[in-house]
Amino acid sequence: MTRLIFLGPPGSGKGTQAAQLANNEQIPHISTGELLRKAVADKTPLGLKVKSYLDEGELVPDKVVLDLMGERLSKDDARSGWILDGFPRNVAQAEFLDKLLGEVGQWTDWAIAMEVPDEVIVDRLRERGRKEGRSDDSEETIRHRLEVYREKTAPLIDFYRARGQLKSVNGNQSITDVAAALKQAIAS
Ligand code: AMP
Repeated sequence: MTRLIFLGPPGSGKGTQAAQLANNEQIPHISTGELLRKAVADKTPLGLKVKSYLDEGELVPDKVVLDLMGERLSKDDARSGWILDGFPRNVAQAEFLDKLLGEVGQWTDWAIAMEVPDEVIVDRLRERGRKEGRSDDSEETIRHRLEVYREKTAPLIDFYRARGQLKSVNGNQSITDVAAALKQAIAS
């Protein structure tokens, strides 16, 4: 049973690693960013509500994300484990997750902090903006998303470290080497 949270700034490679590991372990890869982007693309009521936040690189209000995650984690496929990518994004969301898991007798195994220097992040995100055309990978939004990460999400590193649940992984290496480091980190 694997239950992991991936922390790390946008462009740290957490999406890539989370998807790969989830596939190997045959457990769901749950990305709040992907769920939200899909809602926007499908123009659902949720999508219409959150579009401007995504465009500006702001966090979507907790209530919206918590409802979404409460629903997603209660699905059958999430019973045997999961990898969360992009959630929790602040301390209130982390506390909500604890409560939700506590109610069903589950817990998080590890929070993984993907460590990549800022200048590498900015280069990677610019490249992704060019290749994938993600609208929030523009220069200005990239900078803003990094600020939001530092202010709201980075404190979660200490939150999980204080509970002995943090593993740090050097994300500034090839995808294969990061995957190997990650595998080793969660096995030890
Ligand atoms: P990501 O794909 O994880 O980089 O997320 C893309 C965007 O979705 C973010 O910039 C936020 O606008 C929104 N988002 C994703 N996850 C969350 C979350 N846990 N809480 C609030 N907003 C989120």
